[in-house]
Amino acid sequence: MPISANSGDGAVPEGLHPYAEGLEAACVRYQSCGDCGAAQSLERHACQRCGGVRLSWRDAAGRATVYAVTEVARAPDDSFRALVPYTLVLATLDEGPRVMGHAEPGVVIGDRVRAGFFRHGERTLLRFQRE
Ligand SMILES: [Zn+2]
Repeated sequence: MPISANSGDGAVPEGLHPYAEGLEAACVRYQSCGDCGAAQSLERHACQRCGGVRLSWRDAAGRATVYAVTEVARAPDDSFRALVPYTLVLATLDEGPRVMGHAEPGVVIGDRVRAGFFRHGERTLLRFQRE
């Protein structure tokens, strides 16, 4: 059976993803449509609303509302074991996109939070705290 060299999803460019690059600069980035102005949190090749492809990355102000909360009791891999237990949230940025990040313990759905950042190994991760 032949092996497909191209999955059709488009290749991930060399270097850091713009979102991860933003975190390194203590900034939450999102993709914005140049045609209709819609904002989306995950990198896509076209606008979810209008199908436009003139997408660019913007810096969010870092303020958000908690949409969902999970307490993680079991680390997904060794690097996170030292952090257990920790809180993960899905938070809706004021600009519209929803992003996942760590959060201070005790946050609940609907809390207003502000993005913070911490180093974890080679990466910078998002950590929300209450306003
Ligand atoms: Zn659009």
